[in-house]
Amino acid sequence: MARKVILPVELSRRLDKLTRLREEVKGVLFYQQRGEYCPLETMFMTAVGDEGHVQAIPERLDLVNEFFRRNPQYGYVEFHTHSFGTIARYGPYYARNFSSGDMDSLRDKLDHDERYIHMLVTPETKLLWGSDNPELIIRSDFPIKNHVDLAIGIIARNRGINIGSLGAHS
Ligand SMILES: [Zn+2]
Repeated sequence: MARKVILPVELSRRLDKLTRLREEVKGVLFYQQRGEYCPLETMFMTAVGDEGHVQAIPERLDLVNEFFRRNPQYGYVEFHTHSFGTIARYGPYYARNFSSGDMDSLRDKLDHDERYIHMLVTPETKLLWGSDNPELIIRSDFPIKNHVDLAIGIIARNRGINIGSLGAHS
C-alpha cells in the first residue's frame, strides 16, 4: 500500500515561501507514521545553494542526526526546492520536474534506505518520490506541531549553538 503523506496547509505555505528565494534550500520534514499515514509535523532546513550545488550546513545536519538518534519513532521526508531563481536560470521544465542530477542522488538514497521519500517543492507544485509512489495530501485540519523544533532547540542549546546563526533562513 502506498504511503499517504499528510502536509498541513500552514506547512505547505512555509514551503511555498522558500521557493521565492533566489537560491535553493534543502531540509527535512518530520513525521511519526501511523499505519499508511505519514503526518508531517514541521520542517528543518539543512542546506542552501544553487541547483546541483546545494551546500550542507554541517551544524544543522548534526542537530538533525542527533534528534533522530534520540527519537527513533520519527521518520522524515527529505525535500529540496526549485526556486524562482532556479527556474529563471534553467527553464520552466524545472518547475514541474526533478533534474537528472536529482534522480541520480534519489536512486542512490533509495539503495541505502528503501523507505526513503523525497519532496520536490517548486512555485507551481510539490512532487513526492519514493519506492511505493507515495501520495501527497494537503490538509487544513492538521496543525503544525512544534515538538520537534523544541527538541532540536534543546539539543542546540546543550551544545551552545544558536540555530539562528546557522543560516538557511530560520
Ligand atoms: Zn533539484
